[in-house]
Amino acid sequence: MSFSYEVKNELSRLTPELCCQKAELASIIRMAGSIRIIGGHQKTYLQVQTEHASTARRVYKLLKKFTKCQIDISISKNNFLKANSLYSLAVEIDNIKDFLFELDIISEDKKKINLCVDIDDKLVSKRCCKRAYIRGAFLGSGSISDPKGSYHAEFVTTGRKQAVALSSLINSFGLKSKIVKRKDNHIVYLKEGDQIADLLGIMGAHKALLKFEDIRVLKHMRNSVNRTVNCETANLNKTISTSIRQVNYINYLKENDRFDDLPENLKYTANLRIDYPDLSLKELGQLMDPTLGKSGVSYRLKKIEEIAKKIQSIKSLPEAKKNEKPEKADGKKHYKKT
Ligand SMILES: [Zn+2]
Repeated sequence: MSFSYEVKNELSRLTPELCCQKAELASIIRMAGSIRIIGGHQKTYLQVQTEHASTARRVYKLLKKFTKCQIDISISKNNFLKANSLYSLAVEIDNIKDFLFELDIISEDKKKINLCVDIDDKLVSKRCCKRAYIRGAFLGSGSISDPKGSYHAEFVTTGRKQAVALSSLINSFGLKSKIVKRKDNHIVYLKEGDQIADLLGIMGAHKALLKFEDIRVLKHMRNSVNRTVNCETANLNKTISTSIRQVNYINYLKENDRFDDLPENLKYTANLRIDYPDLSLKELGQLMDPTLGKSGVSYRLKKIEEIAKKIQSIKSLPEAKKNEKPEKADGKKHYKKT
């Protein structure tokens, strides 16, 4: 079961105040309803369609409660790719016209009946009803991504005016919903985890909110553990690559018979490096007798590198210049005995 489905299951089982029931129903009808001519009798119907069984049950119960008129229900698999069933509820418009006018769900223009896109102020005059209206919108056309992935909540509306009205109602609770056009629809959406948590609370999905927060905490912990591990791995890689470089320079000196020219303290440090290539500078210093600090060890190994580099650069010079020998680490000029 998807997270969205769980949220809808919880919302459609709440028992709100009478005022809120009307706001919620009006909202579901605006989001998931349409006015259409069905059947061969050319009769106009209000049709509400949803893939969510509990929402269909909720609409049925509320419509029955407020209008007591006949509601036709059909269930179909509308698309062979979609596993979900599509629940359609249809009521002949003449039977519930008065109720729909009362809730400002429809308007009549030159005998043509349309669904209203604005949100009537009297429907959401109380804060409890504002919440109920948002809940209805979610039941009608909302969804929330699984919080294990990225955070995203959205409401699909059919027109820009409807999207703006819903977005400003949501934002009246201090949220920052935005609108984006996707194909023929205008989507009202929220992105951040905090905002979605607030939305769940506003709609009254408290169980889903707890689950959402649990997942968020786990995710946060996992991310910070990963960050620490990555950081430690990077440091370890750095230590090892430095050590490999140092060992290479030391070996270079040995292979070119220049190792013995080094002062005793550098030779001592170089041999330890060769014997313990995986130790950090600090650990290497602790092995020494007497012990040496990290910066001391670093200084000696750098000195060895410098000497090796100097010899390398001289070796690559043209023949004539090669007779001159590099300085020894003690600063005195070193000449080959003849
Ligand atoms: Zn209310």
